[in-house]
Amino acid sequence: MLIAERRVVSFHYTLTDDSGEVLDSSAGREPLAYLHGAGNIVPGLEAALAGRQAGDTFKVAVAPEEGYGVHHEGLVQQVPISAFGGVDQVEVGMEFHAQGPQGMLAVTVTGIEGETVTIDGNHPLAGKTLNFEVEVTQVRDATLEETLHGHVHGAGGVEH
Ligand code: ZN
Repeated sequence: MLIAERRVVSFHYTLTDDSGEVLDSSAGREPLAYLHGAGNIVPGLEAALAGRQAGDTFKVAVAPEEGYGVHHEGLVQQVPISAFGGVDQVEVGMEFHAQGPQGMLAVTVTGIEGETVTIDGNHPLAGKTLNFEVEVTQVRDATLEETLHGHVHGAGGVEH
């Protein structure tokens, strides 16, 4: 069975950046399952999976525009540490939700210098080329319920 719209695909993957550092991997875990055509995974990877079948292995380099987006310098801001009133200790790597011009925004603390905290509203993988190594393990038809929900139920998917 080939990967196409309304099919559920399970696959193992290793994601590395351009320096070869492993950013994420399904090794030692259940394969990831997604509903093809529903935007569950980054567009560049979804496009590379289309038309393949169980047992296929391949590598694909996904550009930022087809991955987690380009890095917007305007989403990097410096704020006084007093803005974090109520937080015992602000540390690099902490994530907060902040009110932005277009609604709530997830920001990550990327630097602290004295009383000044640098926060970044970009996705942590924004601006990066995503190098995927993929092994397709299963392709099946989605159930009607999965198609209506827009995601996979059961192993590797949403439990509810
Ligand atoms: Zn559901």
